Amino acid sequence: MLIGGLQKVTLIDYPGKVAATVFLTGCNFRCPFCYSSELVLPEKIKDQPRISEKVFFDFLKERQGLLEGVVLCGGEPTISENLPQFCKKIKEMGYLVKLDTNGSNPEMLKELINNNLIDYVAMDIKAPKDKYDFYSGNKADIKKIKKSVEILKQGKIDFEFRTTVAPGLKESDFLEIANWIGGENVKYFLQEFNSQKPVLNPEILKLPVLEREEIEKAIETIKPKFQTCKLR
Ligand code: SF4
Repeated sequence: MLIGGLQKVTLIDYPGKVAATVFLTGCNFRCPFCYSSELVLPEKIKDQPRISEKVFFDFLKERQGLLEGVVLCGGEPTISENLPQFCKKIKEMGYLVKLDTNGSNPEMLKELINNNLIDYVAMDIKAPKDKYDFYSGNKADIKKIKKSVEILKQGKIDFEFRTTVAPGLKESDFLEIANWIGGENVKYFLQEFNSQKPVLNPEILKLPVLEREEIEKAIETIKPKFQTCKLR
């Protein structure tokens, strides 16, 4: 696994748990609003300091009994074929594992769930289906994204969906998303876009961003479709 960063303790990345977050490099998307170019673009990844798996697992050994979980984020963790073995090793040390994913690899998601290698999933919903290509910066395979949504909604594992309120997204987009992913077992979080951070494609900054009050209004409208729907 290519580890590009480690946050040694977080109280917010894993709901209700004290955790560490590991940043895995490489991503198959190029979301224009992404803040993590150093974990996404090969030309930047090569200049990043790496953390070896040995250093990472030694750290987890030291923190046994102090930390409850490990958050795997990126980049996109599911592009690595070795992810199941990596999760297994973490689980064998007694940690809970949370996966942050863009949902583009339903086969891997299913494998991890069926083999009890993860305990919580946070999946990004980038946009309504018809705007996915633009907001993933890629020819996103929407069938795969839909499949991942279906897998999670089966409820075999605790999960949430989340959307960054990227420039250009409108209230009507959130209605469409809610009609797609909504369900009584679904937790859905919206995250405000931070226009101060550098992004992958600065062109997106030319598009209007919903104000906080507009986001809250959209949440009020779509809330009945979810178990929980909040702004983070
Ligand atoms: S925001 Fe998009 S490009 Fe950035 S890491 Fe996540 S999926 Fe990849």
